[in-house]
Amino acid sequence: MAEETIFSKIIRKEIPTELLFQDERVTAFADISPQAPVHVLIVPNKLIPTVNDVTAEDEQTIGHMVNVARQIANEKEIAEDGYRLVINCNEFGGQEVFHLHMHLLGGKPLGPLLS
Ligand code: 5GP
Repeated sequence: MAEETIFSKIIRKEIPTELLFQDERVTAFADISPQAPVHVLIVPNKLIPTVNDVTAEDEQTIGHMVNVARQIANEKEIAEDGYRLVINCNEFGGQEVFHLHMHLLGGKPLGPLLS
């Protein structure tokens, strides 16, 4: 059984957060330490620790995360200029919170990925 992280508390609205979207599958909220003018985290409500733990039954949820990211990018008016979606996995991927999440980053030129 995977251990809960701070993100489960955010999903259950037990701690204050700038919540941007929530439905039965997915929650999106502002990153506490933004790396760009727009930095939003999109997470499955279900605790999936890493991309390595995604199963076929999660396919719809993962696809929905991309749709929610696109919707928020439109709302934040960064879609036309462009943005970056990132999912880090485990130590070498730089993952710090072990509840799968997609970063939506934008609002400025982000430069090359590995700079
Ligand atoms: P990772 O490195 O795991 O891909 O990214 C974790 C992200 O979660 C970081 O960008 C970090 O700033 C963000 N984060 C960590 N703790 C909290 C929190 O309590 N609230 C919010 N909103 N974001 C958090």
